[in-house]
Amino acid sequence: MYPDKKSKSARLYTEACNYLPGGNTRRQVYMSPYQLYAERGEGFNITDVDGVVRVDFSNNATSLVHGHAHPEVVAAVKAQLELGTAFTIATESEIRLAKLLCERIPSVERVRFTNSGTEGVMMAIKAARAFTKRPKIAKCEGAYHGSYDFAEVSLAPTPEFWGADDAPKTVAYGPGTPDGVLNNVLVLPYNNPEAAERLIEAHKHELACIVVDLMPGHLNFVEISPAFLSTLRRVTQAHGIVLIYDEVISLRLGYHGNQREVGVLPDLTAMGKIIGGGFPVGAVGGRADIMGVFDPRGGKPVISHAGTFNANPITMTAGRKTMELFTEQEVRRINRLGDELRTGLRAVLKEESIPGRISGKGSLFKLAFYPQEVSDYRGVYRASAGTGSFMPLFQYLLNHGIMMGNEGRGAISTPMTQNEIGRLTEAVRNGVRELKKELMAA
Ligand code: PMP
Repeated sequence: MYPDKKSKSARLYTEACNYLPGGNTRRQVYMSPYQLYAERGEGFNITDVDGVVRVDFSNNATSLVHGHAHPEVVAAVKAQLELGTAFTIATESEIRLAKLLCERIPSVERVRFTNSGTEGVMMAIKAARAFTKRPKIAKCEGAYHGSYDFAEVSLAPTPEFWGADDAPKTVAYGPGTPDGVLNNVLVLPYNNPEAAERLIEAHKHELACIVVDLMPGHLNFVEISPAFLSTLRRVTQAHGIVLIYDEVISLRLGYHGNQREVGVLPDLTAMGKIIGGGFPVGAVGGRADIMGVFDPRGGKPVISHAGTFNANPITMTAGRKTMELFTEQEVRRINRLGDELRTGLRAVLKEESIPGRISGKGSLFKLAFYPQEVSDYRGVYRASAGTGSFMPLFQYLLNHGIMMGNEGRGAISTPMTQNEIGRLTEAVRNGVRELKKELMAA
């Protein structure tokens, strides 16, 4: 049972705190009173160091689309391991994954690899600045795009600082953020096309790009409205502003990425997570003319883009095998499982009279305990302020064989079937029954 002071995870966490601030290196793994330690993973199961097996709906923050240790990915990586893991000359594996992405993602004509989604977003922004010769970027309030200074602005502003609903202030995430960063980020209210258009028009000569996630995780997977997206596309096209999609999470929603699903294409796309097959990865891809800023053939490239482990053959091999196994059929199948799960969870909340919302699309889902329909950051913030946290249910699920993201987010992997969907639905039913009071408490 979690928590258990005598568990191996509890002991490891105490030791970790002697060497790592807060005992870890990633915000997502932290939980109180201690974080869990993994021993192994296989398919949809994850086993912790105390031998507890759980169905893993977190999948390393949505990055493992085939669950853990898929035999074909493991075999491909093992073969590459024997040949060496990193060289200062290129490998064919880089071409193979690049070709796959260029053929599969409609707006991607050229691609560059990085080691994280953060860097993928950062290189997309730098490419846009260099291409347009303009300094500013625009992003939506509350959206997470990794930890590049500019992308992190207004990630989690609070009401006393955030300004008017239709003209959000630019708010630093943490102290010490240089004014130079804040002065060069325009914050847009998500899903408010009129306000966004007005703000973009006012800054059009200085704006290099707009970065947008079509289903932001931090906004509880609230989908972008067609009106907001078409406004962004029209205005960026009119003023030579580069439209960047952050598909680090959402790429898995369609065989051709979520961009094909929504039918509006960007100029550049930041990618990550599933394209690395379980290894550290990121990428920026898009229009060949913009991507030309990375091209070294004419002498000094416009953008300096090095990286000791960029396009390393382990990641490239795992990523390619993973993407090949993620066929159109499999994409559709796990998206359908997602539909079934959302329907089942909504029925549970209704039957148990729990005010809650199940959001998400395809193989991504999110559970929140507020009843309102929300469409932007402020809506999510206000709705969440009046409700209980997901933590009691998270802990209940941990103790009933299920692991989700500790913010209520989850992702379905291809080893899963209706069995796992059913297990999660029933565990949530029993959990909300038991925890009714805590979940509804303000
Ligand atoms: N963009 C989005 C939408 C993300 O969800 C994330 C990570 N969860 C990132 C960027 C950053 O990716 P990474 O953690 O690989 O740096």
